[in-house]
Order: sequence, then structure tokens, then C-alpha cells
Amino acid sequence: MEKYWNESMECATHNEMRSLQSFRLSQTVRRVYENVKPYREKMDAAGVKPEDIKSVDDLYKLPFTMKQDLRDNYPYGLFAVPMEEVVRLHASSGTTGKQIVVGYTENDLEVWKECCARALTAAGATKHDFMHVSYGYGLFTGGFGIHNGAEKVGMTVIPVSTGNTKRQINIIKDFGSTFLCCTPSYALYLAETMEEMGITKDDIKLKGGLFGAEPWTEEMRQEIQNKLGIKAMDIYGLTEVIGPGVAFECCEQNGMHINEDHFIVETIDPDTGEVLPEGSQGEIVFTCITKEAFPVIRYRTRDIGVLKREKCSCGRNLVKMMKPKGRTDDMLIIRGVNVFPSQIESVLLQLGNTAPYYQLIVDRVNNTDTLEIQVELSPEMFSDTVKSLEDSEKLIKSAIDSTLGISASIRLVEPKTIPRVEGKAVRVIDNRRKKQ
Ligand code: ADP
Ligand code: ZN
Repeated sequence: MEKYWNESMECATHNEMRSLQSFRLSQTVRRVYENVKPYREKMDAAGVKPEDIKSVDDLYKLPFTMKQDLRDNYPYGLFAVPMEEVVRLHASSGTTGKQIVVGYTENDLEVWKECCARALTAAGATKHDFMHVSYGYGLFTGGFGIHNGAEKVGMTVIPVSTGNTKRQINIIKDFGSTFLCCTPSYALYLAETMEEMGITKDDIKLKGGLFGAEPWTEEMRQEIQNKLGIKAMDIYGLTEVIGPGVAFECCEQNGMHINEDHFIVETIDPDTGEVLPEGSQGEIVFTCITKEAFPVIRYRTRDIGVLKREKCSCGRNLVKMMKPKGRTDDMLIIRGVNVFPSQIESVLLQLGNTAPYYQLIVDRVNNTDTLEIQVELSPEMFSDTVKSLEDSEKLIKSAIDSTLGISASIRLVEPKTIPRVEGKAVRVIDNRRKKQ
């Protein structure tokens, strides 16, 4: 039977959850209106008063918060408590520009631990397990977030952080790690290094892992599960909202339950800002309803996803977000066709005739967008004949063309030439940006 960390919240009925959310929302809105000038100014400009927000149904009246608002009020302009109540700072990893900083009160850290403890429990982890954390420790939320959640569950936490991949493998083997947390790309790199060291999945005790911080496909999940001999679960979060643990997968491995008692989620049309019905693909928007130091209101994540509210076989009633495709910032527009790197990953891994490492080089030549997909040869393929390599290239090209409707040039590169990463993978090199 599926175990829960907090059954009353995870399995509350939709109506119970909505009334809790409504209460918490109205309180949060009142608090930020009183304590945070930029929120007050935005609400005043929109003609909304705290008393207009009585329930979740009123959420749409509130103005959105964008990454730019966080940058404009850097570093502490959006904090809703005096600094003496803030016990921790984190910052976004700055993947898409100037970093932003967020703060936590003692209670916010408790909320965060709770969210991660739910995710870990849903992944099957208990106090008998050993948690190997390879997320970076520091301003990035990954390391500390999972670390504290795992301690709360009572797991034996091994705070390895990033770096020295061979040493990581030895630790997994010697310390008997049963769970692993890192980015999916690093999980793959660990598997590859393990193979090089002549260590097989039978030599280690890993049985599960929680992977997030970047988009990854179902095909990538299969790769990781097969190579490490584990059940690979997805976990989602972002610094602006709290860090990892905003949403997590259950035994179904089909969508991530959102911790709705702490975060209200909406999907909107990214162009018009219009709220979309649950089930339509759109930009994911979160409102924090329990955080004290840094409660974002209608924060536009720029992540594109789909929400599903249906009876889940795990017993949880929390709404699910399906695997996000990626951020609108990462979406490539190639000769007018929109593609996410994750869609290309899916095609490449489904064909399965190369190694699971790729990079996309985008450029503009004679006013026309070009896309080159560099894919690594697997060591076995490397010794193939020129003819069979050409055939592989053709196969990939036609699969990309027919599935995504874009024409790309394919370049098969030697094994181990695409850079391996310890954190988030860099999938796209867009040379058009340099030319602007
Ligand atoms: P940065 O914005 O600098 O990359 P964060 O570490 O806060 O800093 O990144 C959060 C972002 O990472 C999310 O908005 C989302 O785009 C991505 N992300 C996190 N977890 C997942 C996941 N499980 N699947 C897909 N994308 C994810
Ligand atoms: Zn479920």
C-alpha cells in the first residue's frame, strides 16, 4: 500500500482543500499588501483590495508576479517579514539571467522539509534508507532542500554535493546508499562512470532516486532506471516558490502531485495571461499561501505544462502536473516551428541507436534559422562502417522531420565529446543571440 507522509493533506477531498486554500490565500494577500510595497502598488494599480480576495475563485483578480519583479526588487524588496526573522537565503542558479534571492523564516524551512518529506515518502524512502545527495549545496536550493527533508523522514543523509564523480560512485558503493538525488543528466553521468569503473548495478544498493531541476523525458527515465537498476521519480520545484518539493511523483510515475495546501497552481495562456481550464497546456503559475518571508503571488514560472485532476491510484487527491516540457525561454523557434529540447530528446532516445547525450546548435545563416543536432555515438557504434553511420544520421533526420516538422542537420560526434555536467545540462547553444 502506498504510504503517505501527511495523509490528511495529501488525501484531503478537493472541497476540503479549496476551503483551506481560500482561507490561507486571503490571509497571505492581506499580509503582503500590508508588508510589501511593490505588491501593494501593483494591487492598487489593478484596483484590487485585500478584502476582494475571499476565495480561490478571486485569485484571477490579482496581478501576476514576473521574474522581472524579483530582479527589480533585488535583493530584499519583496520580503514580507523583517530581516531578523529570516534565517536562510537561497538564490536561483541563474540559468536564465541575473540571479534572484529568496528568504526563509524558521517556519518556511519547516514547510519546505514537509514538502520534501512527502516527495521522499512517495518515492518509497523511509528512515531505514540512506540518501545520497549529489545536488549542489550552497545558494542553489537542491542540496539543502532534499537534505533537510530526508533528515525529517529520518533517513541517513550523505551530503556529498557535486563533484568528483568517481568518488561519488565509491561512496554509493561503500556507504550503501539506497536513494540518490541529483539532476537526471548527472544520474546518467554517474551510471556511465560506474560502467567505466567496472562496477555494475548489482554491486550497489541503490533502489530509488528523485531527479529534477531540469526537464527530462520518459525515455530518459527508462535509461536511468535500466542503467542504475532503480525506480526513478520526478521531483519539481523552483527557487522563487520554495525549491524542490513543490510537486512530486507517486508510485504511478505519471504526473507530479502539487502540494496544494502550500501552493495554489493555475495554468494560463502565456500570451494573453488568460486563465485556462485544468487540462489545457499552458504556463504554470504558483501562489504561495503558507510562506512567511517570500510568498510569491501568481508567480509566472515560464514552465509549460498541463494540470490533471483525477482520482490517482496512489490515493492522493492533490492535483497533478504532467512532466513539464520546458521553459518558454528554452523553446526554440526554428523557421517558425516551436520546439522544446525535450521533444528532440524524446525522438533521439526512442530511436535508441545513439548514446543519450546530445546538444542543439542553433544559428541563422542567410536569414534562415538552422538547427544542428549533435548526438554522441555509443562506443559500439564508433567502430561501425561509414555507411552504417550515414544510415543512422538519415534515420534520425527523418524521424525529427516527421515527428516535429523541422529539418535539422545531424552530426554524430565521438563518444564522450558532449560535455558532462554535475548540475543542469546545457542542451542548447544559440549562436543567433550573439549576432543580435
Ligand atoms: P534557475 O531558474 O536559475 O534555473 P532553479 O533551480 O530555481 O533556478 O530552477 C527551477 C526551474 O527548473 C523550474 O522553473 C523548471 O524550469 C526547472 N525544473 C525543476 N524541476 C523540474 C522537473 N522535475 N522537470 C522539469 N523542469 C524542472
Ligand atoms: Zn498519485
